[in-house]
Amino acid sequence: MCRDRLAAVRWPDGIACLRCKSHDFGFMEKRKTYHCRKCRYQFTVLTKSVLRSSKLSPQLWFEAAEEYIKWRARHGKHNYGLHAFADILGVAYPTAHRARKILESDLGPDGEGLLVRCICNDT
Ligand SMILES: [Zn+2]
Repeated sequence: MCRDRLAAVRWPDGIACLRCKSHDFGFMEKRKTYHCRKCRYQFTVLTKSVLRSSKLSPQLWFEAAEEYIKWRARHGKHNYGLHAFADILGVAYPTAHRARKILESDLGPDGEGLLVRCICNDT
């Protein structure tokens, strides 16, 4: 499952509270949210990551990243056409635009590389 993979990439040593680093937390299945039993902080796999406040699901993010990486491999520096990208993901242009920007920065030299690590760990 995508969320599990994201969690494994973000927290290789096990999920830890983003605020106090505690491993003592509960999980609210319905909201896919962890809550720290120590400091009561609530977070998800997306909190404070490059994907925060995104409307796309982790599943769609993986698909988008894969598409984007494939495109880069074929076309080098040319950017993915926005309309084509939106069509492939089945999202509106503004969403595709934002997603493309996030992917660019995530895959760039200063990016976290969160999505790349998720995808490359897949094999
Ligand atoms: Zn905490």
